[in-house]
Amino acid sequence: MQVPPFTLSKQLAKLGPELDQAVSKVLLSGQYIGGEVNHTFEKNFADSVGVPYAVGCNSGTDALVLALRGLSIGLGDEVITTSFSFFATAESISAVGATPVFVDVDPKTYLLDLHQIEKAITPATKAILPVHLFGCPIDMTDLMDIANKYGLRVIEDCAQASGAFWNGCSVGSWGDVGCFSFFPTKNLGAAGDGGAVTTKDADLAKKMRQLSVHGMPRRYFHTELGYNSRLDALQAAVLNVKLPHLSSWVLQRQSIAKKYRENLQDLPGLDLPIEPIQDNAGHAWNQFVVRVTSFPNEEETFSDKLEQVSLGANYGLPDARFRDQLKEKLLDNGINTIIYYPIPIHLQPAYKSLGYTSGSLPVTEKLCSQVLSLPIFPELSTSQVEFVIKVVVDLMTVKN
Ligand SMILES: *Cc1c(COP(=O)(O)O)cnc(C)c1O
Repeated sequence: MQVPPFTLSKQLAKLGPELDQAVSKVLLSGQYIGGEVNHTFEKNFADSVGVPYAVGCNSGTDALVLALRGLSIGLGDEVITTSFSFFATAESISAVGATPVFVDVDPKTYLLDLHQIEKAITPATKAILPVHLFGCPIDMTDLMDIANKYGLRVIEDCAQASGAFWNGCSVGSWGDVGCFSFFPTKNLGAAGDGGAVTTKDADLAKKMRQLSVHGMPRRYFHTELGYNSRLDALQAAVLNVKLPHLSSWVLQRQSIAKKYRENLQDLPGLDLPIEPIQDNAGHAWNQFVVRVTSFPNEEETFSDKLEQVSLGANYGLPDARFRDQLKEKLLDNGINTIIYYPIPIHLQPAYKSLGYTSGSLPVTEKLCSQVLSLPIFPELSTSQVEFVIKVVVDLMTVKN
C-alpha cells in the first residue's frame, strides 16, 4: 500500500465538476480581478471566522505583511514570534523592516511558550505574532492578557489553522488581525496561491485593502507605498466551492488524529501531539506531528535515500538519527512522511545577521531533530490510517 503525505485526487473526483463550472464562469465573464466572486468569498470567509471583515490577498505571506503594515509596524520595531514555523512567519516581519525576536516553544504543544514572552519584551516591542502551528490553537486567552498588559498588538498566523477554535471562537478572531493562507496543502486550499486577513476593525480592514492595491484609496491616487496583492477571482471562485466543506474536512482530520492518538499511545520512543488543553477548543490538524526520541533495532548506517538525514548536523542541531531511521523505514513501507521543520528559522543562513546560534532556543532545536509528520488529510482512507498505525507500531516495538 502507498500512503502519500497529501493528495487532492479524491477531493477532485468529488468536487471536480463543481470547480470546473465555477472556474469556467469566471473565465467566460472576463472579470478576473475583484467582482462578485471575491465579495462573496470575503463575506463568507469573514462569517466563518466570526469577524466583520476579511480582505483577500495573494498569499499567506502577503497577509502577514499587510497585517504588519496595517498596524504601522516597521523599521526599529520588534515583533515577538516563534522560530519553529514556516520561514514566512519571520520573513514577513523582516520584509516590513522590523526585527523578529524569537522566543522558544513549549515542548508539548510546539507553540510559542507564553511563560517566556514577558522577558523578551523591550521598549521596541510592538507586537506578538503567534503561530497556530500544525492547526493547534495557542492559548489566546493568556496571550491576549499578556498583550493587553503591555499594550502590544497581536497578529495571528493562522496559515495552518483554518477551522481551528480557541474557547469557542475561531483563530483569527482574537488578535488585531488573523492571517490565513490558501496554499493548496492548507486546510482550505486554492488552486494556487491565495491568502486573507481578518479583523474586527473597520479602519484597519480598509487600510489593509488599500495597501493590497498600491496604497490607493481612489483610482490613481496613492497615499502610501503598498503592494499588488489581490486574491485572483479564479481563486476566489475555487474557494467559494470549497469553503462550505471546511468544517466537515476538519472533522475528518480530527477523526484521523483521534485514531492515531488512540493507537500509537504508550509506544516507547514516540511522543504524540497533544489536543488543546481546553474543552472548548478545536485543533484543525493540518499536520499530525510526532516526536521520535529513540528507535529500537537501530542500524549502523544509513542509506542515501533521505535528503534530510544529517541536514541539521550542519547547523549544530541535536542528533536526528532516531527520527531519520523511522522516516526511512516508513518510506520502505510506502508511507511518505515530511519533516516540518528540519532547521529552525533562527539558524537559517538568511538570518545569520540576527546573531542566534545553536543553543539559543533549545526546545525548538530539539524538536527540529525529532519531529515527523504522519500522513493526515481528510480523504485519507480508514485502511490507509490503519496501515500507518500498524507499520509504526511494528517499527517502534523492540524485537527480541
Ligand atoms: C504556509 C504558511 C505561511 C505562508 O503562506 P503562503 O500562502 O505560502 O504564503 C505562513 N505561515 C505559516 C505557519 C505557514 O504554514
